[in-house]
Amino acid sequence: MATKRTPIKRALQTRITAEAIDAFKAWRAVGECLNPDDEGYDCGECDVCEQWWTAQNAVHSALGLRPWVWPFSEEHDPMLWKELELRSQDTGRAYNGKDY
Ligand SMILES: [Zn+2]
Repeated sequence: MATKRTPIKRALQTRITAEAIDAFKAWRAVGECLNPDDEGYDCGECDVCEQWWTAQNAVHSALGLRPWVWPFSEEHDPMLWKELELRSQDTGRAYNGKDY
């Protein structure tokens, strides 16, 4: 059966909303775990870890990711990740609908 594929570029553009960018920025701004174990893994229980998960949840739902993409990371979708990084470096000019 023939299937129509949406070009990846267009799929990315529709998925990455201003909300997703904001959520991604907030997620990246979360600090380091307060109580990592000896190998440097996050404890998953401190305030910072809680913030990290909350922020990750926001990104996850803003992007409409699948349940198994959990937690979302660069490995799941390098192209999407790169796009998010690029767009989150933007000052926001491109997303308010105005042309300066
Ligand atoms: Zn922690």
